[in-house]
Amino acid sequence: VGEEDAQYLVSLIRTVPGFPKKDVMFRDFIPVLADQRGLSIMMKALELALPVSVDSFDYVAGLEARGFLIGVPLAAQLGKGFLAVRKAGKLPPETLNQSYSLEYGEATVEIEKDAVKPGDRVLVVDDLMATGGTAKASADLISKAGGEVVGFSFVMELIGLSGRSDFEDSPISSLVTMP
Ligand code: AMP
Repeated sequence: VGEEDAQYLVSLIRTVPGFPKKDVMFRDFIPVLADQRGLSIMMKALELALPVSVDSFDYVAGLEARGFLIGVPLAAQLGKGFLAVRKAGKLPPETLNQSYSLEYGEATVEIEKDAVKPGDRVLVVDDLMATGGTAKASADLISKAGGEVVGFSFVMELIGLSGRSDFEDSPISSLVTMP
């Protein structure tokens, strides 16, 4: 997308200092979804910025909940299926799960046991990468199920937390980088 469209997209991201806790700059992309021009720019930009070629994956996996909001339209736009990576406790058995550490405590992501077939190639998407922990756990989960994670797409990336360093050589794209 052009410079003017890129600036317009960035202008729609709402920053809320101190939410949900002190010292966090909450980056809210929900206003982009509400804006007809912003939504169209974002979906076009995600496609243009794909970290791998469109024929190198079979599924788009979105991370609950905001990753669903871009994962489903992106999958439809690219002619792929969508896989839901869910937070713990939302799915009936049987599930596969992967836990990971947060700043305080632990979190777990889950998929349906048969959602991924061995050899399925998957692009993982979410609204934002901070430490990268959620995306990394989701990728490990997909790998555990026999799938191959070919890359990651984010709308926003917080630089300074070095989230990317966890991913070695995995192709990653993000539309907007922020402190
Ligand atoms: P992380 O696992 O640290 O990369 O955190 C990524 C997940 O937490 C994503 O699903 C984001 O939606 C959410 N998240 C983390 N930090 C922020 C932030 N500053 N603003 C908005 N969402 C965030």
